[in-house]
Amino acid sequence: MNRAASQPEAKSESAKDVRRVSVLGSTGSIGKSTVDLLAGHRDRFTVEALTGHRNVQLLAEQAKALGAKLAVIGDAALYEELKSALSGTGIEAAAGTDAVIEAASRPADWLMAAIVGTAGLRPTLAAIAQGTAVALANKESIVAAGPLMLAAVEAAGATLLPVDSEHNAVFQVFDPAQRGGVARIILTASGGPFLRKSRAALATITPAEAVRHPNWSMGAKISVDSATMMNKSLEIIEASYLFNLPDEKVDAVIHPQSVVHSMVEYIDGSVLAQMGAADMRTPIAHTLGWPERIATTGQRLDLSGMLSMQFEPVDTARFPAVALARQAVRAGLGYPAVLNAANEVAVEAFLRGQLSFDKIEILAEQALQRVDIGRISTLDDIIALDAATRTIAENSLRTLQ
Ligand code: NAD
Ligand code: MG
Repeated sequence: MNRAASQPEAKSESAKDVRRVSVLGSTGSIGKSTVDLLAGHRDRFTVEALTGHRNVQLLAEQAKALGAKLAVIGDAALYEELKSALSGTGIEAAAGTDAVIEAASRPADWLMAAIVGTAGLRPTLAAIAQGTAVALANKESIVAAGPLMLAAVEAAGATLLPVDSEHNAVFQVFDPAQRGGVARIILTASGGPFLRKSRAALATITPAEAVRHPNWSMGAKISVDSATMMNKSLEIIEASYLFNLPDEKVDAVIHPQSVVHSMVEYIDGSVLAQMGAADMRTPIAHTLGWPERIATTGQRLDLSGMLSMQFEPVDTARFPAVALARQAVRAGLGYPAVLNAANEVAVEAFLRGQLSFDKIEILAEQALQRVDIGRISTLDDIIALDAATRTIAENSLRTLQ
């Protein structure tokens, strides 16, 4: 037997299968990095669909550059603009929420779910229902509907590939065959731009200051979440669902340099970490190539002498958002959806200048106390709960201003 021929690595680059992919939220920060990777590997992927929300010009440009079959703009009012930007290209244009869901339902081998917020929930679930391998950046969707999403993955034989840098790091070093030997997951957190600020100083933070993250370049919402550390709160819930571990086995630690992206500690004392530069193209590429690896031209970790790494505990008195995650996930299905929806309302209000920075987690905490969860067993229940929370949170906003 020809041993070499039987080994997967013996496949030449050109003999590799061409995979069909789609990108939801291609005009955002994760979306643009994904498009960038796809553009660098044109021979390996064909692009079925790209979706954006309002940036017609960028969406059309991306669709043309990648030769996508379909481009969808979420805002239905922008249909004509998209159609004219794509005229003569042969690329199909569509618009509106249902068209985004339809794009997600088209057959694909791999789909990037990078819409921000619970707006991504239905499209992400539509892709899962097709049995697609879904690269999940849209953490709000798994926070809101975790057990229902995982049941849908199971039912459709789909695969979830974590994109969030921490969860991708854990995914790379978590050995499912040794699940019983996992003592805990340790998520790293940079601490955001206000790590050393006093609680009192947080009251006057402006949106421009909050979106200026020291290590990562990201969309506005996740940048504010990183500054309040609500991002770590959402990530504790995300990790607990993705890796099927109780929240006591999911810890967070401050690591200001963002070199170690997260760790798994085993019961024998071994701690396995994944490291890299703070460049989302690495975790995205990991999911795009999975189960193999694909090359990136992104930043590389510079080990030529700079490397000093610090770790310290999270101060939950200054960043109470981190404690809210445990409260919500322990309370059960529905509570994480409330925490997430109230936070989305609070962050939008903060970015509009209608809520002070230090009140964001107060609004989320109030929602957890005020919303009547009721019986939650379907996706529609979660979507109704998300809407009810938004109404209550909008009302609370007035009292907090
Ligand atoms: P972003 O704001 O830069 O991009 C969001 C994308 O979603 C855009 O394409 C936008 O057009 C689209 N969108 C927004 N609202 C929509 C709606 N109602 N309907 C349809 N599409 C809509 O955000 P981002 O930073 O790229 O983050 C995307 C997701 O990935 C978030 O859930 C975030 O938490 C997660 N994530 C991001 C990073 C990062 O480095 N940026 C890291 C980890 C996880
Ligand atoms: Mg993260």
